Amino acid sequence: MNLAVNTPSAADRIRGQIEAGGLGEAIAAVDGALEHCTSAERPILLGLKSLALVSTGQALEGLRVATQARELAAAVADPAIESEALLALGFALQSLEEHTRAFDILTQAERLAQQTGDNTLLGKARRRLGISCSVLGRHAQALEMLEDAARMLDQHGSLAERYHARYSVLNAKGRAADDSTGDDAARQLQYAELLAQWDGFLEEVAAHGLTRLELMALANTGIAARRAGKVELATQTLQRAVDGLAKAGLRGHEAVAQGHLGAILMTLGRPEEAVVAFRRGIALLEGGNPRELMGTWLELAEAYEAIDDPRLALAAFKEARRLERQLHDDEARQAATKREQREEIARLAEQWSRLAEEDPLTGIANRRAFDRSLSHMVSAAREGRHFALLCFDLDFFKRINDTHGHAIGDSVLQRFARLLHADRRAGDLPARVGGEEFALLLPIDSKSAAADVAAHINCACKAADWSSIASNLSVTVSVGVAVSHEIDPGKLSPETMYGLTDSRLYRAKHEGRDRVMVTAE
Ligand code: GH3
Ligand code: MG
Ligand code: MG
Repeated sequence: MNLAVNTPSAADRIRGQIEAGGLGEAIAAVDGALEHCTSAERPILLGLKSLALVSTGQALEGLRVATQARELAAAVADPAIESEALLALGFALQSLEEHTRAFDILTQAERLAQQTGDNTLLGKARRRLGISCSVLGRHAQALEMLEDAARMLDQHGSLAERYHARYSVLNAKGRAADDSTGDDAARQLQYAELLAQWDGFLEEVAAHGLTRLELMALANTGIAARRAGKVELATQTLQRAVDGLAKAGLRGHEAVAQGHLGAILMTLGRPEEAVVAFRRGIALLEGGNPRELMGTWLELAEAYEAIDDPRLALAAFKEARRLERQLHDDEARQAATKREQREEIARLAEQWSRLAEEDPLTGIANRRAFDRSLSHMVSAAREGRHFALLCFDLDFFKRINDTHGHAIGDSVLQRFARLLHADRRAGDLPARVGGEEFALLLPIDSKSAAADVAAHINCACKAADWSSIASNLSVTVSVGVAVSHEIDPGKLSPETMYGLTDSRLYRAKHEGRDRVMVTAE
């Protein structure tokens, strides 16, 4: 059996199962495929397993599996695989309502996706990130990201990815309208606008046969109509939505839609029909969130009162009270579970931050990220795509620390990192590789172009306004430059490449510092 050919199709097959809602089968298929996969495929498969687990409501288990995927992806040192693992991690965190943590993780995913130049991946990362922003109430930022994601996936994504992205944009607009501070009339207008957009969306997803998305959108259209004050339209739309959602078995979505339908029927003076909606909502919520369940029992009790059935109304009130008591008893237990959950998440988070790519002082890539990129660039160079490496070491940095103090030294490092980061192009990687040592990877094969970049940074460092950090402060830097085709292909490795560049840096120091060295003699 040729596994190298076989297993990628296993991942694709599992992706298909997840899209079609076959989550249990997908999980079993991952476990089977893991037995004979390569180390590069392992994190991909585990990422898919995490996705399926989270979708079935096992978010914490999903988070554990995604952490494993993240760990293995780091070892593989492929930014696309790492980014996918981080997306799985972010998704699990979102469903645990850990949106701040999710935001951090998804920011890393976005940065890695950027490195790959894969716009589908980047669009997917932006979409997830935008969802967290939206839930966190950063609406302007959320919309910008989600619209950006929608644009990218529109060009590069699959049909489903395209429409999921647009769905997220409209959802975020709804959240923004919910939170907007304008008066009721202004808000209604916002919802009316949104309603028109949901309408257009509905038509398109229906035309493409994206049934699941169509039903979810239909429910949202009904909710928007309700908020826009279009009561008749809202009722009809929600009615259609609940029918469709019931048929498709989308219970969570149906429960929400039934709640809205019941409430609107009450305001229309149609309590008999409201009773039906609330009862169905209760059936769907049974065994789920007791707080929502209690709320629906209360609404049902009021509907019974409206149809003059005091006996059933009383029974419903009693049920709501029973749930309230149970909720009280549960609260202590839930608090304990939640605490344990948070502790576990914190433990896992330590693992992720250890794996993170960023140097905490300067915010640019750290040694680990640099090592990974260097080894990628070396592999590419073996196939003829050459690159340049620049190594920087600040001159007499110890003296700066001794004269001005360590805090000023830190500020110098931060400023220099910004300087290194300025004017970079896509594909460039500036990194802090040691205390006052930095590196820059450039996907170019021209030595003179690399030397120009080095000279530019050397000059910019000299010319920078260091006195704003400390009076009488001046900073210079020594630079070594090498290009991968200077090394015999048989000998090219991350070590030889770094060694060659570093030896030139050493010469720059030896010759008096504050200079760029591009040769050994
Ligand atoms: P040279 O021109 O030969 O490079 O001299 P140098 O003093 O720059 O080199 P040396 O390696 O002797 O000193 C580097 C100093 O950088 C020593 C160390 O205390 C300091 N350093 C390392 N990391 C940090 C940091 O995170 N913050 C600060 N403020 N200083 C650091
Ligand atoms: Mg040094
Ligand atoms: Mg130094």
